[in-house]
Amino acid sequence: MTKNSQQLFNEAQDVIPGGVNSPVRAFNSVGGTPLFIKKAQGAYIFDAEDKKYVDYVGSWGPMILGHNHPAILEAVIETAQNGLSFGAPTELEITMAEKVREIVPSMERLRMVSSGTEATMSAIRLARGFTGRDKILKFEGCYHGHADSLLVKAGSGMLTMGVPSSPGIPEDVAKHTLTVSFNNIDEVKEIFEKIGDEIACIIVEPVAGNMNCIPPVAGFLEGLRDICDQYNSVLIFDEVMTGFRVALGGAQAHYNIVPDLTTLGKVIGGGMPVGAFGGKKEIMDYIAPVGPVYQAGTLSGNPIAMAAGLASLTELCKGNKHQQLSDATEKLAMGLKAAAERNGVSLAINYVGAMFGFFFTEEENITCFAQATACDGDKFNRFFHLMLEEGVYLAPSSFEAGFVSTAHGDAEIEFTLAAADRCFAKL
Ligand code: PMP
Repeated sequence: MTKNSQQLFNEAQDVIPGGVNSPVRAFNSVGGTPLFIKKAQGAYIFDAEDKKYVDYVGSWGPMILGHNHPAILEAVIETAQNGLSFGAPTELEITMAEKVREIVPSMERLRMVSSGTEATMSAIRLARGFTGRDKILKFEGCYHGHADSLLVKAGSGMLTMGVPSSPGIPEDVAKHTLTVSFNNIDEVKEIFEKIGDEIACIIVEPVAGNMNCIPPVAGFLEGLRDICDQYNSVLIFDEVMTGFRVALGGAQAHYNIVPDLTTLGKVIGGGMPVGAFGGKKEIMDYIAPVGPVYQAGTLSGNPIAMAAGLASLTELCKGNKHQQLSDATEKLAMGLKAAAERNGVSLAINYVGAMFGFFFTEEENITCFAQATACDGDKFNRFFHLMLEEGVYLAPSSFEAGFVSTAHGDAEIEFTLAAADRCFAKL
């Protein structure tokens, strides 16, 4: 007999903490039982009971071409015939690195890892090693994976669960992480004026996607670039979410700012566990074995992951996929706004490229953490569950960005908007 999500969740909780292998999946903030997924195709996912949903999570980002894309599947199957891992270099790693560099030219040299967390953790260590400084600066509500230095005032699941900073991180480590407000360049300037020569790097999500979706205000990223130049600090764009999504070349292409280092994840693996970090040659040459900063990984550059990533990036480069993605996202965003208005619901919307977020608030323009966290979370939770009943799978937290894929055509978007109209009416 087929087990439903509730039965699977009950079983899972006995053997896996909270029943999940990553916290936000547990529906902790929205309440209820997480969907257990059996399969996915295109813009749709299917739960344990075969119920179909239009999916705006897309495995939290990797599925920019939709689920089960034939080119990625074929690349994985074909590559797997030759063995799953060698722990020795392969030609595929060069092809993949060259492809990434072609799309993100600021990554003059890059190294593959197996997750976004590894990418940011390694980039931070490298920035510290390169500058000989200990302190790092991040922004409140930005999430950069779960490495110790970065779990201070973080977004995503940390924010969803209301845990500002995680126990288990020694004060001696946390004290080196300085946190200021996203989109507030004056706060950054102020801190640099005091201790700029102790700060190894600024790490930023160029479009914040872990406290809902908050684009940079005019001048913010430019200001970060100038400050890093002035104080010889390393500017790290964490493009794990924005990479290949807000534009083919990521946020750095969209906003035309060149960071010193970039971290990538999600889309770069096409669904397989991959991340990467890279940037200026002189910084990257500080990494072992050429340089003194140690960083390694048994499965880094894994052939199956490289094949999936390469197929994903190759497909993304064909045609004008990013115009299609931003048109679809705009249609969705504008449609949600109109549906909310028709039903007397106050809603603010942000979107860039294939990334969007909506906020239950009276405010028109959401640009900072304080505004994002002041929104009506209960209303979001009710809306989330109503949409789920209608067959639309949104991220199960009001602090996560939504993702559109090339498989989201007019039919999927119209289905979503019709569902949203009915759900807003019930709020
Ligand atoms: N950086 C950003 C901007 C992210 O959104 C995430 C994950 N959501 C990470 C880093 C960490 O990536 P991973 O979950 O693959 O470790």
